[in-house]
Amino acid sequence: MQLYKDQSLRIHNSLTGKKEIFKPINEGHVGMYVCGPTVYSNVHLGNCRTFMSFDMIFRYFKHLGFKVRYVRNITDAGHLENDADEGEDKIAKKAKLEQIEPMEVVQRYTVDFHNTLQQFNLLPPSIEPTATGHIIEQIEIIKEILEKGLAYVANGSVYFDVVKFNENHDYGKLSGRKLEDMITNTRELTAQSEKKNPQDFALWKKAEPQHIMRWPSPWGDGFPGWHLECTAMSTKYLGETFDIHGGGMDLKFPHHECEIAQAEASTGKSPVNYWMHANMLTLNGRKMSKSTDNNIYPAEIFSGDNHILSKPYTPSVVRFFMMQAHYTSILDLSDEALQASEKGYNRLMDALDNIDTLKTGETSDFNVQAWKQKCYDAMNDDFNTPILIAQLFEGVKHINLIKENKETITQEDKDVLTSTLNAFIFDVLGIENQSLTKDDSNTLGGVVELLIDIRNEARANKDFATSDKIRDQLIVLGIQLKDGKEGTTFSVN
Ligand code: AMP
Ligand code: ZN
Repeated sequence: MQLYKDQSLRIHNSLTGKKEIFKPINEGHVGMYVCGPTVYSNVHLGNCRTFMSFDMIFRYFKHLGFKVRYVRNITDAGHLENDADEGEDKIAKKAKLEQIEPMEVVQRYTVDFHNTLQQFNLLPPSIEPTATGHIIEQIEIIKEILEKGLAYVANGSVYFDVVKFNENHDYGKLSGRKLEDMITNTRELTAQSEKKNPQDFALWKKAEPQHIMRWPSPWGDGFPGWHLECTAMSTKYLGETFDIHGGGMDLKFPHHECEIAQAEASTGKSPVNYWMHANMLTLNGRKMSKSTDNNIYPAEIFSGDNHILSKPYTPSVVRFFMMQAHYTSILDLSDEALQASEKGYNRLMDALDNIDTLKTGETSDFNVQAWKQKCYDAMNDDFNTPILIAQLFEGVKHINLIKENKETITQEDKDVLTSTLNAFIFDVLGIENQSLTKDDSNTLGGVVELLIDIRNEARANKDFATSDKIRDQLIVLGIQLKDGKEGTTFSVN
């Protein structure tokens, strides 16, 4: 299927601020790089929103028939506190705090990241490279930038010379900043700083004796600067210039600005044709963040164990809630919004359950082909999922009218309606049907009772890992266990 030949997709390019027709570098292929998580703590729902947005984009490209190479990295070294050039490595700091190896921290939170994204039904990327697995590539890029005279060595560290780079390039073009303004607005360097200018950023940092995450380099033992890993891994797997680079809006500056500078300095080429930025998820009107307490974790939503929401919500409902907003809009999480999404989700799933039983007739009162094209038009307009969902509900409206014998549909149109709904809901939006039909309920009841028995045995044996696992996994499937005086009962969302 090569649907993309009939559909022209427009993407909002953060670099130009315009919606542009998507023209891939290689016909029928897409190369996409998205900045992954720094694995020093559990992913919060805000992180999940960004990865879900790019999962939807990945899925739509695949649906259109493109061959996509989707690279999403794991940051397991080099990301210092406050995204700065000084301070402790976030992972090393956590390792010290917990008295474990940095790689134990990395392992623990990478597993959590994968589990969480799987619960939200995200597809795995094609390649998931790590910063520590690409130290040699990063050192090679530093050598090239030094050779071009756009970096300098200071006391075992290497810094990118932003002022020199800006003489022939435009540092600030992605984030809409001017270097002169940045210079006017920053205080003087402190006497002990090794940098020539405050805007310079680290490509390589000398490791002090107490710094545990360190590698040998031509400049002594140290570790790479945070921005460098993404330049190394994106160009290694996608080429010196590739189609799409994505990430959260907060990464535009300095992270992505520095990525552009590093790539242009080392190869002389612009690295990315389309820069895409997903907007933030807020909680109570404020940005969700790992470093402040303003956040909620997916497990707390699925279990209902939080002070923010009145009840638990399934991963599918949360995903549907996310998809109801455009990826470039800010989205605020609230109980009312999730309740409204749950109602909408149930209406959609009910319609899908009913579609098979619809009677067909000689004519259709509903122009299914025109409706189908409107679904594509929505997605082709910079992945406009809220408009797509409005169209899906237009389909639901007709399903209900046909069911009530107020409209008719031909078999052929019914087939198109069914396949289009399935394609957009399941394949493109990545929503799963976690509602149950009546026939399923008896079998399900038996299975849940069996799991309740196993859980009670586990609890009696103080095997809380097993009992918690049963409870948590059932929650993910939309089944809530309630422990009471009379024993354990369950409800299905
Ligand atoms: P981090 O692990 O902090 O590097 O973040 C991983 C990804 O999550 C990055 O692309 C961030 O831009 C994104 N992100 C962080 N906070 C939020 C938020 N509140 N809403 C949406 N995306 C976020
Ligand atoms: Zn990155």
